[in-house]
Amino acid sequence: MKFASKLIQYDAAPGDRFRPTATPIYQTATFEQEHADRFGDFDYSRSGNPTRKVLEEHVASLEGGTRGFAFASGMAAITAVARTLRVGDEILADSDLYGGTCRLFTRVLERSGIRAHYADAGNLAAFAAKITPRTRLIYVESPTNPLLRVLDLRALAELAHANQALLVVDNSLMSPYLQRPLELGADVVLHSATKFLCGHADVTGGVVIVNDAKLAEEIGFLQNAEGNALAPFDCFLLQRGIKTLKLRIDAQQRNALAIAEFLASDSRVERVFYPGLAGHADHALQLSQSSGAGSVLSFTARTVEAAKAVAERAKMFQICVSFGSIHSTISLPGCMSHASVPPEIAATRELPPELVRISVGIEDADDLISDLDQALVHDVPESQVRHDAHRITASTR
Ligand code: PLP
Repeated sequence: MKFASKLIQYDAAPGDRFRPTATPIYQTATFEQEHADRFGDFDYSRSGNPTRKVLEEHVASLEGGTRGFAFASGMAAITAVARTLRVGDEILADSDLYGGTCRLFTRVLERSGIRAHYADAGNLAAFAAKITPRTRLIYVESPTNPLLRVLDLRALAELAHANQALLVVDNSLMSPYLQRPLELGADVVLHSATKFLCGHADVTGGVVIVNDAKLAEEIGFLQNAEGNALAPFDCFLLQRGIKTLKLRIDAQQRNALAIAEFLASDSRVERVFYPGLAGHADHALQLSQSSGAGSVLSFTARTVEAAKAVAERAKMFQICVSFGSIHSTISLPGCMSHASVPPEIAATRELPPELVRISVGIEDADDLISDLDQALVHDVPESQVRHDAHRITASTR
């Protein structure tokens, strides 16, 4: 089946005698057992729940994997993957990572004797030089967030395997519609399902998908042992969102390209970062491993004040962390989604303070462009500068 059909054609309620077309919400913690000495398919919702199972099997099939696992958030999904490591193991991660992932790797995993190192995975030779005999996971997002650099996932998978490590790809920015890292050689693909999989910014969730049976058993064990699976109602909402994934992304991506072209031709904008533009350095690489560039893009304004001004003056773009919703949103990653990057890592990483990230929704492209046009400024007079008025503290994001 083609991807569009796979989104819709699946068994929504296996074994249900009423044959509902939408997956029922099995809002129960426990399941009565027929026998005292052996369990049926489900016994306790932390360990397994029919609503969750439909979602997990569906996302696994969409990503081309054999097993999927749904978690209470993207961070819980990433944590489960990190929990497969032992004291002394190391992670080698690309340096342009979501801030919360960096915080988890640096400030949480270090407590368990697991170390993360960061390097530019776009420079394969320099990145490979950072691998040590203790490197167990190579961890990347592609395109990266928020600078939209494209990493060569096939080459990274080869590099990982040549060094007895696993390649983990956070595919939140692309979704399985546009990119399927397992088919490119990755071992683990994960998502903040809060983003495109949900698509409506009304669920916080995460998924992990793998092919290897042993790895699947370990992730399933951790999901049950740590008790951070996604609740039945959220599984239902997520599953509902997934059905329109293709329609949403097709519309969002069309709008994103129109906006990127507008921004690229505007003198109030310094640089546009969007691999969908033919002039982007990684355009060909992006198209060689995915079927589109998605609908998140970023650009630099001339000054930090001008960046803040466009975010605050835009009327159709809500100032929000996160991305992937049908609503267009705007953010300044340096003081929002990436404020949680620990200072020592932030010092080594390129994150221009005048960077503006937008996630393009399904509104009318002309309206969105007019809105950005009225919001963009050449510069902000010093008298109107509100220093740090919108800084969101690192601990909250
Ligand atoms: N991965 C990426 C790329 C993200 O942007 C985020 C959150 O913004 C996460 C993971 C964490 O996901 P969640 O917020 O669902 O825990």
